[in-house]
Amino acid sequence: MTTSSGTDETPTSTPAPGRPEPAVDFIRAKVIDDNASGRFGGRVQTRFPPEPNGFLHIGHAKAIGTNFGIAEEFGGTCKLRFDDTNPETEEQSYVDAIQDDIAWLGYEPDEVVYASDYFEQLYAWAEELIGKGLAYVDDQDADTISAQRGGFGQPGVESPYRDRPVEESLDLFRRMRAGEFAEGQRVLRARIDMQSENMQLRDPILYRIRRAHHVRTGDTWTIYPTYDWAHGQSDAVEGVTHSLCTLEFSDHRALYDWCLDHLDLPGDQPEQTEYARLSLTHTVLSKRKLRQLVEEGLVDGWDDPRMPTLRGLRRRGYPPAAIRAFVDRIGLARTNSVHDIELLESFVRTELNRCAPRRMAVLRPLKLIITNWPEPSSDEHEVLVEAVNNPEDATASTRQVPFTGELWIEQDDFKLDPPPKYYRLTLGREVRLRAGFYITATDVVTDDAGNVVEVHATYDPESAGGSTPDGRKVRSTIHWVSAAHAVDGTVHLYDRLFTDPHPGADGSDPIACFNPRSRETLTGAKLEPALATVTPGQVVQFERLGYFASDLDDRRVFHRTVGLRDEWANIQKRAAKQGKQRGR
Ligand code: ATP
Ligand code: MG
Repeated sequence: MTTSSGTDETPTSTPAPGRPEPAVDFIRAKVIDDNASGRFGGRVQTRFPPEPNGFLHIGHAKAIGTNFGIAEEFGGTCKLRFDDTNPETEEQSYVDAIQDDIAWLGYEPDEVVYASDYFEQLYAWAEELIGKGLAYVDDQDADTISAQRGGFGQPGVESPYRDRPVEESLDLFRRMRAGEFAEGQRVLRARIDMQSENMQLRDPILYRIRRAHHVRTGDTWTIYPTYDWAHGQSDAVEGVTHSLCTLEFSDHRALYDWCLDHLDLPGDQPEQTEYARLSLTHTVLSKRKLRQLVEEGLVDGWDDPRMPTLRGLRRRGYPPAAIRAFVDRIGLARTNSVHDIELLESFVRTELNRCAPRRMAVLRPLKLIITNWPEPSSDEHEVLVEAVNNPEDATASTRQVPFTGELWIEQDDFKLDPPPKYYRLTLGREVRLRAGFYITATDVVTDDAGNVVEVHATYDPESAGGSTPDGRKVRSTIHWVSAAHAVDGTVHLYDRLFTDPHPGADGSDPIACFNPRSRETLTGAKLEPALATVTPGQVVQFERLGYFASDLDDRRVFHRTVGLRDEWANIQKRAAKQGKQRGR
């Protein structure tokens, strides 16, 4: 598997956020051509067809952005169609969650429909096929049928039931519907070509018996259409023009067309076009694998902030606008590739940089005492300093942050034995406290093990607001929270869900490289008072630490959405350097 981050036009590099849009992709080009030639009478109708058997992931966001996006751009319509043809695995809760996730992403279906709305019509069309001698009831079991299908370069074996008389098939099919047979006892198959090079055309199964309760049709049906029988015909009933799906369905296109070609259909025949699935490094985008993570208890649930599900990303603080921008930028390609997760994160960072308020929080607190700070009896004992809410947003103004002589700073921001190039606080050194004063460390208190438990410092009263009359420079600025005003919080830091950039690509079980250190929880964080009033799900920047989302259920819990460092820029720099070296 290769890592590439481009569209058809630019196979090796994806423009960074903020760069110009790539040229029109091959699907949009096709829509433009179709409109120009008057095909479909200039109509554009798409659909997003999830199976309600799990939660949507970011791969689905690509399908949603593509289908809803194209409809919108060309003045067309896009329906949400639940592909509810497998009663055993489908649930109403998934139906609800999928609608909720689509709305969260910012799209509104023109209509919500279900493949099950068409069960009666699909059944009638199946009888029509049987009548034309193009479908037959097969009494063999699934394993036998599968073995007879053969493989590439291997001949298929015709079923002994293939030439059964039309009336017999029709009678058996009606009795299948009436519930006379057990599950697996009979299926309806299309009668196409057992020697076709395309395995999908070797008499595919159109109906199977399932004695399961269906979320919408209840116990009305005991036979259910397969994906291949339901999909194209549902498209046709609805008047879909461009039926867009992922590349694994390429082989199904001939069958899609075969079914439509052999029925008397109203209106134009829809056309299936396939595009590359979205894959991302360090994660998996398959409902089955994601379910395994949930069921094995490796994550807290489908909405765990480490999950690539839309629920997970939402809880993690990903803005929907960033996901939409990412989907737009990666574009639609004809070959599969894997995108760096850092690219997605850079879109998240760009969006949050624009809109997230800045706040101060100390994750691993160390006490700092300012020894020359005014006494408690003084009016000056507690002051308010003015901090900028968002330097990227002129309308975000400032806020007042309480400052006292007893503060929390990060353990990392003080070192007794500073390594080279460490410019933060150490004994005898002066640094700036963000929006506050200059301080110089003078002394420490250590515990029995020699760990620093308290730092003593003096401050320069002339340095209020972060500069001094003599223009003295310091090499670093650190953040802080007043101890008396701090709000306690819990913070989750996240690392990659899988240690391997391509989990399972070599055929191994991806779960084997699940990252056991993908979450680190810090329970003793100290937050500035303004953080007591965040709204659930709000994302703020903790200065110098990254972007953090308040939990949807507990506002004192924060999830790190992304760090501040632009790792995507580094990846691009490295790639450019390697390119140059190769060019030498
Ligand atoms: P999974 O493999 O995760 O179970 P799926 O394809 O079975 O996904 P569906 O509910 O059938 O899930 O998908 C609905 C639509 O979303 C389909 O058109 C499918 O092609 C598309 N889709 C699913 N995964 C991706 C992906 N990774 N990238 C782009 N489109 C996707
Ligand atoms: Mg599917």
